[in-house]
Amino acid sequence: MRSQDHDRIFLSPPHLGRHELNYVHKAIEDNWVAPTGPNITGFEADICQHTGASHCVALNSGTAAIHLGLILLGVGTGDEVLCSSFTFVATANPIVYSGATPIFIDSEPQTWNMCPVHLREAIEDRLRLGKKPPKALLLVHLYGMPAQLREILAIADEFNIPVLEDAAEALGSCYDKRPLGTFGAVGVFSFNGNKILTTSGGGALVTNNADLAQQARFLATQAKDPAPHYQHSATGYNYRLSNILAGIGRGQMELLDDRVKKRREIYAWYQRHLADLPALQFAPQEPAGSRSNRWLTTVLLNPTHTSVTPEQVRLHLETRNIEARPLWKPLHLQPLFQNAPQYGGSVCEDLFDRGLCLPSGSAMTDEDLRRVAGAVREAVGID
Ligand SMILES: *Cc1c(COP(=O)(O)O)cnc(C)c1O
Repeated sequence: MRSQDHDRIFLSPPHLGRHELNYVHKAIEDNWVAPTGPNITGFEADICQHTGASHCVALNSGTAAIHLGLILLGVGTGDEVLCSSFTFVATANPIVYSGATPIFIDSEPQTWNMCPVHLREAIEDRLRLGKKPPKALLLVHLYGMPAQLREILAIADEFNIPVLEDAAEALGSCYDKRPLGTFGAVGVFSFNGNKILTTSGGGALVTNNADLAQQARFLATQAKDPAPHYQHSATGYNYRLSNILAGIGRGQMELLDDRVKKRREIYAWYQRHLADLPALQFAPQEPAGSRSNRWLTTVLLNPTHTSVTPEQVRLHLETRNIEARPLWKPLHLQPLFQNAPQYGGSVCEDLFDRGLCLPSGSAMTDEDLRRVAGAVREAVGID
C-alpha cells in the first residue's frame, strides 16, 4: 500500500490476527514449503469443524473449487448448468471451462439470490425445448446472504439436479442454524484477499461424500494414478493450496466468529446511522432462522426520494478517499455471456442500477464508519 494512501478506507481489505505468522514461520522452519503439509491438513480440519462438513479439500482459489465441483457433478461438454445471474463472473467462468453453457436465473427481491419461481420456469422450459435435463445447479449466496434454500432444494430434488453452492462470500453464514456450503452435494469457499477471511488467495471445497472428496484431491494434484512412474488416465489440474498460505488460513479460521460478529455490527451501525435518509434502503432481509455474515453492507437508492445515482455517490466517496463499489453486474448483461439463455432478469438489473457496496472491512473503526456515513449523507444531500 502506498504511503499517501494511509488515510484511504478500502471496501474490504485483509484483516490479519496474531497467529497467522506463527503458522507460516513453522512451515518455513520445518521446510513444508510445498502444496502439501501440516498447515493444509490443519486448515482443512478447521473448515470441517466450523462448517460441520465431513470432508474439505483446500485449493488455490474459489474459482478452482467451483471448477472441480462442476467436474465432480459430471458437468462436461454440451451440458447446461443453471446459475445465478446476480454474481461475480468467477461463479460462471468454470461452467465455460467445462465446455458447458450457463443458464442464468434472476434474483428474488428478499435475499437477492436465485428466484425459485424463475428456476422452475427455466427447468421446465429447457425440458420443453427438448434440451438434456440441466446437469447441475450452481447456487450463489451473494454478499453472505443465504438463498431461499428450502424452496430451491425442493425444486432441485424434484428434477434430480445436484446442487453446487457457491458460498465464496458466505463463510460463517447459516440457514436453519446450519452453515452455508453444506446444503448442496458440494460447497465452495473463497479465501481471496477481499473475502471475510483470507489466505491472500485460496479456496476450499467441502462435501459429505468421501468419494467426491477423494476425487477432488486426485484431480487437484494432476490426476496421478497410483504408480511409481508418472501415469495418468484422466486430465488433472494443479489446484492445491500452498502449505504456507494454509498457515495464514489456520490463523484466520481462529478469528471467523469474531469477524462475522464485526461485519454484522458494521451492517447494523450503518443501518442505525443512516436510517433517517429516505433516499436509502437497506436490503435485503435475512430469511427467518438464517444469519448472513454481512460480508459487505449494501444499500439501494430509492428513486422516489432522490435523483442521485449510485455512481454519483461512489464518485463523491472517492473524493473523500473512500472506496465503494457498484453491486455485481448481472452476468446475463455481460458481453461475455450475451448468447447465454436467461430467465427473468429485471430484479437483478434493478438492484444493479440502484445499489452500492459500502466499506465493510472488519478492522474499521468507529471513526472510519462516521467518515463513510458523513460522506454518504453529503452525497445524497446534493440532490
Ligand atoms: C470471490 C468469488 C469467487 C471466486 O473466488 P476466488 O477465490 O477469487 O477465485 C466466486 N464466486 C463469488 C460469488 C465470489 O465472490
